[in-house]
Amino acid sequence: MTAACGLCERALDHGYLCPGDTLALAERLERMPKLYAALAGFLTPAVRGGGERVSASRTAPGLPVDEAVLDLRYGGIALVLEGWRSDVQRVRGWGEPAVTGSVERRVLAAARWIGMSLDWIAAAYPAAGDLAREVREMEGAALSIVGALPERGRRIGQCVSIDASGVICGAVIRHQPGQTRLVCEWCHAVYATEQDWLLLLHHQPKESV
Ligand SMILES: [Zn+2]
Ligand SMILES: [Zn+2]
Repeated sequence: MTAACGLCERALDHGYLCPGDTLALAERLERMPKLYAALAGFLTPAVRGGGERVSASRTAPGLPVDEAVLDLRYGGIALVLEGWRSDVQRVRGWGEPAVTGSVERRVLAAARWIGMSLDWIAAAYPAAGDLAREVREMEGAALSIVGALPERGRRIGQCVSIDASGVICGAVIRHQPGQTRLVCEWCHAVYATEQDWLLLLHHQPKESV
């Protein structure tokens, strides 16, 4: 039997989500409660001109921003995360999770629970790729409103991992303050130990440093 990552489709020895996508999912889940809280600041509709409001909104394309925020704040994020948590518990043969507290607590609880179950999810949950994809899309939707795209970080070099056909990845590796473990966004190579850093620096193409 061959396995593949449910998100990026790279071949795996076993399991349903590659280490890079698992890490990215863990980080998204960790950020989600903060992002949820940040959305609160965007709930108030922008002030519109008085009399022409109806006709103006009819001609405006798409949803007003506040409606998208409402969707994510009251329903969206909590329901999506709770739905995944509930399905993971079902597959593992556990009971339904209890849903209590404010929406903010629920987002925190569900994100934390999924985050703590990622080892099992990556190894044994066939829908892991769909879970990761939905969380990524939800984060994208929230970020498009909040506008706080993660800082791009300092460029430290090019990825030196080599694929099966002998081609060097070459994607730019960036470092954020405080990060001790970097994952190539392109090939998911992980740089986490002193040896990894030395390897990375040693193999940099001369002109790029
Ligand atoms: Zn993957
Ligand atoms: Zn790479």
